[in-house]
Amino acid sequence: MPDLAATLETIVDDMRRETERGAVADYIPELAKIDPRKFGVAVALADGRVAAAGDCDEPFSIQSVSKVFALTLALGKIGDALWRRVGREPSGNAFNSIIQLEYERGVPRNPFINAGAIVVTDAILAGHKPREAIGMILRFARELAGADSVVIDGAVAKSESETGFRNVALAAYMKSFGNLLNPVDMTMGVYFHQCAIAMSCRQLARAGGYLAAHGRQFDGHRVVTPEAARRINALMLTCGHYAASGDFAFRVGIPGKSGVGGGVLATVPGVASIAVWSPGLNAAGNSLLGTLALERLTHAMDWSIFGD
Ligand code: GLU
Repeated sequence: MPDLAATLETIVDDMRRETERGAVADYIPELAKIDPRKFGVAVALADGRVAAAGDCDEPFSIQSVSKVFALTLALGKIGDALWRRVGREPSGNAFNSIIQLEYERGVPRNPFINAGAIVVTDAILAGHKPREAIGMILRFARELAGADSVVIDGAVAKSESETGFRNVALAAYMKSFGNLLNPVDMTMGVYFHQCAIAMSCRQLARAGGYLAAHGRQFDGHRVVTPEAARRINALMLTCGHYAASGDFAFRVGIPGKSGVGGGVLATVPGVASIAVWSPGLNAAGNSLLGTLALERLTHAMDWSIFGD
């Protein structure tokens, strides 16, 4: 096996030299301020070792990567009942599309498009106050990352609360079909805070360990059942990159979930959990260089789940 640390350094050097870096998300004003030259990567191996390079210790807004952790929590809370409210098929549409919701009568295609994630957050919120639900999600993220320094970036949460009209529209539309249990403003308050969780690549790679190790963190702590971990990985592979999920599977060959902050969490089942961060996005809203870096990494390490 090639040397992982050296491979990461080479990838960081290559990515620093790239001139085509994509566009930083500007529909959330606070995210538009991020320096597009940032690049970090971290790999947590199942044997407990961690290799990391570049801006791997700088916290960034994980945005939709949080949908993976929210789904994990919701499955733990209500189990398979969740699948009555959200589907398990790729959408082939933009992350914030409203079109499909009309003809599929308010049941989103999957938990990783915005509408689906809003339903998942709504399930976590049920029976709690928004403040408690936000606390539960943050505590879970901290526990997974093994770091109390994981926080919710208040400025990002506020920025999105003030401008996230399309997400509010998705929630209101689902409410009209009876697929939202809580008031729209309460569910969206929790959703915007969940998206504003900030972590470094090193923390995020560690947080995703349970997906690579049959539902247990690399230190042995059980997070979910092996079945749940397997299913979450399947959804990441098929739905984790919005309308570019097929392209990600084709190029990178492992389950992954992107966020508009430019982060990607990816799993090499049985082997490693990977986090990469480069803020510039491609047309589908996924990290441009993050995807390229993962493609190089899985190729160099022979990590595609589809073989070499
Ligand atoms: N908070 C973002 C939104 O809801 C998440 C989207 C993403 O990261 O892909 O618009």
